Amino acid sequence: MKKQTLAIDTPFQKGDAYGALSMPVYHTLAYEFDNASVMSDAFCGRIEEPDYSRVMNPTVNYLELKIKALTGAERVTAMSSGMAAISGALFSLVEQGKNVVSSRHMFGNTYSLLTKTLPRLGVTPHLCDLTNLEEVEAAVDENTCCIFLEIITNPQLEVADLASLASIAHKHNIPLVADTTVIPFTEFCAHELGVDIEVVSTTKYLSGGATTLGGIVIDYGGHPEFARRLHDEMLFNLGAYMTPHVAYMQNLGLENLKARYEYEVRNTVALVNRLRTLPAIKSVNYVGLPDNPYYELAQRQFGKTAGCMFTIDLESKEACFKFINSLKLIRRATNLFDNRTLAIHPASTIFGPFNDEQRAAMDVLDTTIRISVGMEDVDDLFDDFKQALA
Ligand SMILES: *Cc1c(COP(=O)(O)O)cnc(C)c1O
Repeated sequence: MKKQTLAIDTPFQKGDAYGALSMPVYHTLAYEFDNASVMSDAFCGRIEEPDYSRVMNPTVNYLELKIKALTGAERVTAMSSGMAAISGALFSLVEQGKNVVSSRHMFGNTYSLLTKTLPRLGVTPHLCDLTNLEEVEAAVDENTCCIFLEIITNPQLEVADLASLASIAHKHNIPLVADTTVIPFTEFCAHELGVDIEVVSTTKYLSGGATTLGGIVIDYGGHPEFARRLHDEMLFNLGAYMTPHVAYMQNLGLENLKARYEYEVRNTVALVNRLRTLPAIKSVNYVGLPDNPYYELAQRQFGKTAGCMFTIDLESKEACFKFINSLKLIRRATNLFDNRTLAIHPASTIFGPFNDEQRAAMDVLDTTIRISVGMEDVDDLFDDFKQALA
């Protein structure tokens, strides 16, 4: 069946006692077994039956099963946030004395994880320009555990060439790990492009309009120890599994994701094209514009769409603050892919804790505003831009 049918109709693990159409919320912690040997089989992983909700819950497991069916992955693990998915994946790959090859263009907390938390545990980040394949090749050595990247960085909007980076990773026998949050995993096949492990903040597109915080790790089988470590060490020892109510909300979000995404993409394209006519905006940056330097790569990798996030550059930081303060409809908020349109000044917020030098190294400019486009009428959004710029 096609992805959209699977998103709605993937069968439950077991028939529901009452014939419920949507997977109920199993708001429960422990599960009883028929006898001691089945109990032992479940605890020792010989059968997949829920025993304790820190590591397995029927509602969460149903979301995992759906995503597994949609992506063709070997294993999908739902976590309590995008950061739990990212840290769980990285902690399952790294070892003391080893390194991770990645970029300076990175979501703020991921950057902090790589440059503050991992170094405390003896893991070094090798940050390089991922658009320079020779530099990446030179950064990989015999102690590299993986290449980690974001498919479209934010707010720089740099697109990773996945197939080329995968070939470097695979030549050195290490997995390519990609944060694919900004394009829904239902829209393209990361594994076909060489990605071995996908991490997603499901807080964004999947949650159905900012209902809940969540993350998933989609494992295509790129590392022999990865699945066992993620399950036996991260879920059991660190404990950041998704909770059942969140899985229920995100399962609903997955069912109507395609409709919401397509609508938001249409809004984004229409809005971006109209904003380009306004002289007060120095530049409108969107990977889905044919004159964007990453347009062709993005089209090749992600299909016909390029997400619903774009940035604009104004004259100065003061102009950015004035614009943000003057918005009447568009909300001053972080987050991406809410049903509402959101505006944020990344340099002073998400990247506020970094100093000027660090922000310069990350190419986070004082003049940039990030917009995440929602589902309002595009005429009203354009009018709000116009009046706020005026
Ligand atoms: C939001 C985001 C994260 C973090 O996800 P949370 O669910 O907020 O923990 C990681 N990566 C990217 C690209 C994001 O946009």
